Amino acid sequence: MGANRPGTVAAKGLVIVNTGNGKGKTTAALGSMLRAWGNDMKVVMLQFLKSADKESGEHRATRRIGIEIVQCGAGFVFDPASQNLHRTLAESQWCEAQRRIHSDKYDVVVLDELTFPLQFGWIPVTEVIGILKRRPERLHVIITGRGAPKQLIDFADTVVDIINIKHHYYQGVEPQPGIER
Ligand code: ATP
Ligand code: MG
Repeated sequence: MGANRPGTVAAKGLVIVNTGNGKGKTTAALGSMLRAWGNDMKVVMLQFLKSADKESGEHRATRRIGIEIVQCGAGFVFDPASQNLHRTLAESQWCEAQRRIHSDKYDVVVLDELTFPLQFGWIPVTEVIGILKRRPERLHVIITGRGAPKQLIDFADTVVDIINIKHHYYQGVEPQPGIER
């Protein structure tokens, strides 16, 4: 590892990508937000695709401690009839993300499940990278979701690919409170 370190930088806003098929991408991002919040940093999570009417433990917890999570989506169900709705919601959430990124009010912005609108071509990856390049210097941006595009992986500072070894869902266990919701 030491041989791969060309020099040291004391402070830098990072682009971090949590991708892969295993469980833990969003929960890792929530953990990062909690850690930043504990350093008196200003944090926000913008969720793509997830329904605004689906409330999980993280939504209740963050509301209680004053961390904002902005939900905007029609859920993970992809029937062809609702494609336009999903696309419109994703585009409007991306506009909101740009507004937050450029506001210079935040230290950490999490773009949860952004990889799906990127995969579907609803939001061009080149546009996302352009916005990330022009973000405030101190701002950390964490992007989660399966199948992160190569261009984003190449651009990011830190990328984790969470491998699925096994998941209780495939042993017939329903989503558990505190673990998945
Ligand atoms: P989490 O929100 O638990 O950190 P994640 O962000 O890594 O999960 P997503 O792709 O966003 O994973 O999927 C969210 C939901 O799907 C969660 O309820 C999670 O438990 C479940 N899940 C994640 N990975 C798998 C998997 N490999 N097989 C089945 N279900 C999964
Ligand atoms: Mg997730």
